[in-house]
Amino acid sequence: FQRLKAGLSRSSNAISDGIVSVFTKRKLDADTLEDFEDVLIQADLGLTTAAAITEALKKGRFGKEIEGDEVRAVLAEEVSKVLAPVAKPLVIDPARKPHVVLVVGVNGTGKTTTIGKLASKLRADGRSVMLAAGDTFRAAAVEQLKIWGQRTGAAVVARSIGADAAGLAFDALKEAQANGTDVLMIDTAGRLQNRTELMAELEKVIRVIKKQDPTAPHSVLLTLDATTGQNALQQVEIFGRVAGVTGLVMTKLDGTARGGILVAIAAKYGLPIHFIGVGEGINDLEPFAADDFARAIAG
Ligand code: GDP
Repeated sequence: FQRLKAGLSRSSNAISDGIVSVFTKRKLDADTLEDFEDVLIQADLGLTTAAAITEALKKGRFGKEIEGDEVRAVLAEEVSKVLAPVAKPLVIDPARKPHVVLVVGVNGTGKTTTIGKLASKLRADGRSVMLAAGDTFRAAAVEQLKIWGQRTGAAVVARSIGADAAGLAFDALKEAQANGTDVLMIDTAGRLQNRTELMAELEKVIRVIKKQDPTAPHSVLLTLDATTGQNALQQVEIFGRVAGVTGLVMTKLDGTARGGILVAIAAKYGLPIHFIGVGEGINDLEPFAADDFARAIAG
């Protein structure tokens, strides 16, 4: 929690400073409420949520003097209400051999690292894991995945650079089925520069996987970089449409994160949030906890 709190300090400090400047020795009136709402919007919480929180604060307190701590408590409670319904663990279906997890997201958001961390967790639970190096455009991504494979004892299926990602995914799934592997995680390319090509490739990967197992992919995880703020909304929109995202992982919540956007995403899309990334290390992936996140962001 302390780490998350430190990671979210950019958001929570902005909120905290905002609360102090808005409410110090001032009554809760139309002006202070408007200023408060602006603080929340600046912190990326989204218009709808900012309005709802402001309304909750107003209720029963209008015209009265109010302390910063009370504002923070209301804020934490309201944010928690938004986040609690989407804080859901990633469920691996033991009946699937393998349960196929497709990992999508813009380059640099932490796909490969998240796959490595998740592989470590699954291995610790006694599951057999295979990783498919589906970002066939970047040598570094393939190399990184191989290293994660060695670290975690997961098998890695990789091809030469420029190989067809869909073909690789297909072969990996066939091999995982033949071996009775529990979980197959497929890394993908995330070059947003050429969106049409990228989306066509993702669609093809999914189509080809379905040929081998019509129920797959069983989970489609989207990684979002907490430091990028508002861009994350658009990424949820795009990848949601093309890849049918089933859950989110927000990474880099240890740095100078702008985690407020997660609240806006939760309110707008209602997609499950499974994990948060709080560092580059193998153990730096934590289940998403709505209350902790809400308390950390409220400062
Ligand atoms: P990909 O291009 O989406 O596969 O992204 P990578 O997994 O290669 O990650 C990009 C960079 O972000 C790497 O330097 C990772 O070590 C780093 N990274 C990933 N997740 C986290 C996180 O939760 N916290 C921090 N601080 N860095 C992270």
